[in-house]
Amino acid sequence: MSTTVPEMYGSLVFNDRVMRDKLPKDIYKALRKTIDTNTHLELDVANAVAIAMKEWAVDNGATHFTHWFQPMTGVTAEKHDSFITPLEGGEVIMEFSGKELVKGEPDASSFPSGGLRATFEARGYTAWDPTSPAFIKDGTLYIPTAFCSYSGEALDKKTPLLRSMEALNREATKVLHILGNTEVNSVTTTVGPEQEYFLVEKETFQKRRDLVFTGRTLLGAMPPKGQEMEDHYFGTLKPKVAAFMHDLDEELWKLGIPAKTKHNEVAPSQHELAPVFDTTNVAVDHNQLTMDVMRKVAEKHGFVCLLHEKPFEGINGSGKHNNWSMITDTGINLLDPGKTPTENIQFLVFLMAVIKAVDKYADLMRLSVASAGNDHRLGANEAPPAIISIFLGDELTAVLDSIENDTFFGKQKNVQMEIGASVLPHFTKDTTDRNRTSPFAFTGNKFEFRSLGSSLSVSGPNVVLNTAVADALSDFYEVLKDTDPEKMDETVHELLKNTIKEHKRVVFNGNGYTDEWVAEAEKRGLYNYKSTPDVLPVFIQDKNVTLFTKHHIFTKSEIESRYEILLENYSKTIHIEAKTMLDMVSHQFMPALVKTMDELLTVATKKKDFDAALSSKAEKALLEKLSTAYDAIYDAMQVLEEDTLKAESMSDELELAKFYQATILEDMSKLRALADEAEKMIPKGILPYPDYADMLFYV
Ligand code: ADP
Ligand code: MG
Repeated sequence: MSTTVPEMYGSLVFNDRVMRDKLPKDIYKALRKTIDTNTHLELDVANAVAIAMKEWAVDNGATHFTHWFQPMTGVTAEKHDSFITPLEGGEVIMEFSGKELVKGEPDASSFPSGGLRATFEARGYTAWDPTSPAFIKDGTLYIPTAFCSYSGEALDKKTPLLRSMEALNREATKVLHILGNTEVNSVTTTVGPEQEYFLVEKETFQKRRDLVFTGRTLLGAMPPKGQEMEDHYFGTLKPKVAAFMHDLDEELWKLGIPAKTKHNEVAPSQHELAPVFDTTNVAVDHNQLTMDVMRKVAEKHGFVCLLHEKPFEGINGSGKHNNWSMITDTGINLLDPGKTPTENIQFLVFLMAVIKAVDKYADLMRLSVASAGNDHRLGANEAPPAIISIFLGDELTAVLDSIENDTFFGKQKNVQMEIGASVLPHFTKDTTDRNRTSPFAFTGNKFEFRSLGSSLSVSGPNVVLNTAVADALSDFYEVLKDTDPEKMDETVHELLKNTIKEHKRVVFNGNGYTDEWVAEAEKRGLYNYKSTPDVLPVFIQDKNVTLFTKHHIFTKSEIESRYEILLENYSKTIHIEAKTMLDMVSHQFMPALVKTMDELLTVATKKKDFDAALSSKAEKALLEKLSTAYDAIYDAMQVLEEDTLKAESMSDELELAKFYQATILEDMSKLRALADEAEKMIPKGILPYPDYADMLFYV
């Protein structure tokens, strides 16, 4: 008998249902309190939870446990310990203690720390995050944890995220209370990340060194057919792909990941998966897990799942849309316009906080999505531009206009609320979602941040978003806190009006792909950071250090260490790409050219031997072309090689990153253009690796 989806769903998760079922009542209550209100967990409670968790895990086939964490590498890390404890007489029992559940001590010395370990202790520890449920994967109980140094410095992506959620909770609740909504005890942020990816056949993948070493192709001429027909988008799923997706859904459901939508994307072999949204922290963990499971299930189906932002030149890359909102513990989505005037006002206050946050910290938003891979997309007319702006749609923009011009609340100030009350229209998705060129779009009851790259942990962008909005809300609170309740409406109105005036420059409803917008944005004073090395230094600017330290998200040294890691990571990525490209060109591509020329020469010679009168015009012409290309490629290779050596001798990290961006990438692109042109003259079968057509149109 086959299992139904509801039976399957969450079957490998130590979720609330299991907890209630397996834990003594008082223990369940204590744990629930820790989860809901973020209070300290007593050791005796932890011990009881550990016992229940282990029993449940062992019943479900687990033999090991691991503290699962998210170091600055961007991927997750785990070290597996078995539950066994040997007894005298050669037997074992399965044991797991509260201490082991709550705290782990992985050897931290090999994870990137950006200098934090030089100044602090070399050791780090992992701490259980009870707000994200434990689960079983491949016979191991996974315990989501935060990763810190012994002096408490964050070494991971979860710790700052939890801190930023706490900051937003604090500031949002204060504002709600002063607005009179005193029933609310807490506010959390919610995220639904839509994930794009490519599938290529495993055999093809393994023959491409560039895919193996860098995740993207560094060479390759476009096939006669690319994505110009747009026949792949939402197209019928090929059986092999459908089978993969079916399996993927099931694996994700078992892990309690609410995979909801799947479809083909614009590019050939490109697909998308979207889950139902969740609390940010859980959504981040789930997205990391989703990427993991995608790779694993792909493998089983003879595929490799490519999560790189730009695996194929000339073909759309992959991104990730971060749908984001805020929800109260009373169940109100604060970005839902609501139905009553009071709800409308509350919505407008939170909406304006987001607008202010994004305008003020657009540089950090851009920073949060910056990576070597994503640089190939942003600003390239297939993904949002590098300029961060907000799309609100005409209706909502009109509402803001009328607030700014005093027409929304009615002309007479003292009756503003009553008339005011001109209840907001209900924004349907249709009117808000049409503009696909905007990096940050209001889509009816949430914002969609569309600049993320496909391989990125969604943690960073949400840290920035949560913190920046918390900051705007804290500014709002300062304005509102001493207001006479009688005058609250008026003060709120003034606040909205002033905020609109000051920050409306970030609102843009037009086409973000045009040159006019670039010029217009510059006039408006908006940031336009084109590449990762351009934007990274904003991290350590005073304005931004102040933001993060004020809300206790990062200490100054945590920021500096992260800045260093990001720079290093960028340079290393391009360094590996340059080396891989040189390797492929010299060991695979050039020999293929030589072989092509050799075959032509053989034919020409044979012709002549057979009958001297037979002309070899075509062979000569082709040989000449090939020979010219060969020389040019050789020269371009020399340049790349010399510049790569130059880079190896540079020591200033920022200067180095800039050199990689401005010089090495340029060298690579010149070399590629020459090679791709020459590739068209090489007969099928001579190149020792699959070409674009083989990779993209495999079924
Ligand atoms: P689509 O873009 O596929 O038409 P939606 O716009 O409804 O569908 O949803 C896209 C993503 O946004 C989904 O992952 C969905 O769960 C998520 N989402 C919907 N509401 C919220 C919310 N309040 N907070 C965060 N994410 C949300
Ligand atoms: Mg979307």
